[in-house]
Amino acid sequence: MASPSVRWNHLPRVVSRVRTGAGRAYGPRMPIVPDTKDWTWVLERPCPECGFDARAFPRELVGQMVRENACSWQEVLARPGDLLTARPSDDRWSALEYACHVRDVLRLYDERLELMLTEDDPDFPNWDQDAAAVEQRYNEQEPRRVAADVISGAGRLADRFDGVAGAAWQRTGTRSDGARFTVESFARYFIHDPVHHLDDVARGFAVLEGER
Ligand SMILES: [Zn+2]
Repeated sequence: MASPSVRWNHLPRVVSRVRTGAGRAYGPRMPIVPDTKDWTWVLERPCPECGFDARAFPRELVGQMVRENACSWQEVLARPGDLLTARPSDDRWSALEYACHVRDVLRLYDERLELMLTEDDPDFPNWDQDAAAVEQRYNEQEPRRVAADVISGAGRLADRFDGVAGAAWQRTGTRSDGARFTVESFARYFIHDPVHHLDDVARGFAVLEGER
């Protein structure tokens, strides 16, 4: 029979690694799929969770869609602080954590888009979004600051998308898992993420407000 100390050693390290200010553990069940998980099916069929169809809009509208999505996050981040930092379930982030994730995605995708537009077929540097959530203490950030950064990040990325024309839509880039994108498929793939997380947040608020 194993001794307690041996059993302890077999526990996943992540369980004891980090706790948020609210005392909730970032447990081993990570709610957000890794950046490298293959979500590229969203380019082929509507998302069964949020209903978004990444094929169903003119590519030239993506900049406007980014800006409109950022406005919706302003409404989210104006909600009361305790609602923003609460997790509706063990496998969902809080609204503030999703908002911080979206802010970082806006920055990351702007860097990747710039790479695609300025280099030939670049490889994207890897990004561990779950590590980012822990290291940057997403759930302790200031909502108003996050809201401002979402607006500025969305504006930069939207401007860059608005500047894409003609053959530039077919320029390419490759993610660290080998998934290859054109600027157009990259735009369609990207915009699903902040749309999907708005839906996550709306569902989360419904659960949390139902508990009150
Ligand atoms: Zn979705």
